[in-house]
Formats: sequence, C-alpha cells, structure tokens
Amino acid sequence: MALKFSLLNETDAGGRRAQLDLPHQLVETPVFMPVGTAGSVKAVPQETLEALDAQIILGNTYHLYLRPGHEAIRRMGGLHRFISWPRAMLTDSGGFQVFSLSQLRKVSDEGVRFRSHLDGSSHFFTPEHSMDVQIALGADIAMAFDECTEYPATRARAEESLRLTMAWARRSLGHFTANRHNVPWYEEKDGRAQSLFGIVQGGMYTDLRKQSAERLVEMISEVLPLLPKDKPRYVMGVGYPDEIEQYARLGVDMMDCVLPTRAARHGLLFTSEGRLNIKGKKYAEDQGPADPECDCMVCRRYSRAYLRHLMHAGEPLSATLNTIHNLAYYLAIMKRVRASLVAEASAVTQP
Ligand SMILES: [Zn+2]
Repeated sequence: MALKFSLLNETDAGGRRAQLDLPHQLVETPVFMPVGTAGSVKAVPQETLEALDAQIILGNTYHLYLRPGHEAIRRMGGLHRFISWPRAMLTDSGGFQVFSLSQLRKVSDEGVRFRSHLDGSSHFFTPEHSMDVQIALGADIAMAFDECTEYPATRARAEESLRLTMAWARRSLGHFTANRHNVPWYEEKDGRAQSLFGIVQGGMYTDLRKQSAERLVEMISEVLPLLPKDKPRYVMGVGYPDEIEQYARLGVDMMDCVLPTRAARHGLLFTSEGRLNIKGKKYAEDQGPADPECDCMVCRRYSRAYLRHLMHAGEPLSATLNTIHNLAYYLAIMKRVRASLVAEASAVTQP
C-alpha cells in the first residue's frame, strides 16, 4: 500500500523529474498545485482547471471543517465528488489557518483551542481530530498536524515548537494509519490509498530544520513497510515565479501558493515581461494580450484594455480571467522545467 513515487531523471544540481502515482492522478513532478481554499480555486470552475492541465489542487481543512463541515462532505461521498474534481487533491492539516486566521488560540501539548473566524464558535483541534477531518474529506494526500512556527522566533521558541510538531507528527501518523480505511473510495482505487505527508519545522535555524528532517525520516522507518520508500518533497506556500523554478531545479517536487490566484484578483499579472499591474492607465487602449509569450485561453482571446476595463468596472469576470492567466503562467513554468530537467539529466535506473 506504499505511495508510488518513481524517479525518472536527476540533474547534477539535484533537480528531479518524477511521477507520483496517486489514486486520482498520475502526477508529473515537479508540480505546482493551485490552492482551492474552501473547495474552489477562487473564480475558476473545475473544467477550466482541467483545461489548464492542473494535475492536483489543494483543499484547506480548516475552512472545509468549519463550512460545510467534514461529516457533511463524507456523507456526500468525499471532497472529490462534492466539488466534482476527478484529479488529485491534497488537504493541509488545518494548522496553518488555525494559527493565522482564528482568534484566541490556546496551544497545549494536547492540541489547539481556537475560535472560528466566521462566527466566534469554539473548537479544539488535535492531531487525531485533524486526521479524522482529512480522512473524511478523502483527498489523495493528507498532511500531518503541525504547529506553524512564527517568524521571527527565538531559538528556544523554535525548539519548543519543533518538539510539539514532532510529537504531533507521531500522533498524526498513528491515528491516520489506524483509521484511513474510512476513505469512501478506498476500495475502488486499485489498492492505492490516501497518503500522509510529514512536515518539517524548526523555524529559520538550519540545524533544527536538519534535525526535524532526520527525525521525520527516523519515524517513518519505524512504520515501514506501510510507508513509502521513495519520498516526494513538498515545500508549502511558495512562491514567486522565479522561486518556484529555482526550487524545482534544486529537487523540490511539489509546491503550492495562493500568490498567483490572490494577486490576480488584485490585478497583478505575472508575465514573461515581468509583473504587470493591469489597473494601469497605460493599458486603457492596449490591444495586446496580457503576455505576448503566453498561449493561455485568456491571452489568445482578450486584450489588456479589456482586462483593465473589467477590473475597473468591478466585473466578476475580471477575477476569473486574471486568475486563469496567472495559473497558466505558473503551470507553464513547471512544464518547461520538467522538460529541461529531462534534457539536462541522465536517466535514473529504478531499483
Ligand atoms: Zn495568458
């Protein structure tokens, strides 16, 4: 029942071209994953994400737990069926939003008590509860519950946070392993099951990050053969276009970020000519596409002048078209990087 991760090519710089065989999709890596916060990549319908060739999207556990609720989603056949997304999905642990969005947090070894940012209601998240919620959502990949260390943090604070994250990772793994068979499509997917990813914390201290990574690997080795031998590397919440390319070339396999979608809604477009603020007066009668090098469905059809007009008029289509272009731009970077990794690399022989 191991996660299948097949390394195809590797460069001298450590960049790797691989395939991640998930229940709903054979994901070609390195991959960028659009963020679908509350069961939707904001402003973009699922069929358009498919047309853009998005292989895997994220769902946020915190948001889906609060609304519509994980038990409701389980009753409706899991998150894939509920939002009608046939390809791969990953859910985060809820930890990041608990620490960034909610109010009146109280952290103990047991878990985190917090108040909903929606209605102020009180909730308690433990590693076990995060696993239960993520199993109910049924994404291809679930994430261990972690404490997101704030920045900046003192050394002592980062050490304490790491201790907690490691303890929670162990509890996440134990609970997930014992309960993941409750995933609705578990029997249907050719023996391929939901996977759990560990999270490396440790603040900005390199040695703590190293220790965190080593201890995660140690822990994983204890539960072999239930867990994968080949491990994809996922950096959460990055980044700008040049950054995602750089990480991919260093050997990061998976990345996600709200930047392309959030920036799009504010009129910031990423292009081969750099960042473009579509609100600018100079685009008022510009008949050219957002990015002359881009062949996305927006750049093929609409002008900068029209995109600027939609933004100024407050038309909802503005968010949709801007987001489609930015996502196309990010996904095209990854496609280009994957091709160049193959060209630069020597083939890896699978054991
Ligand atoms: Zn475009």
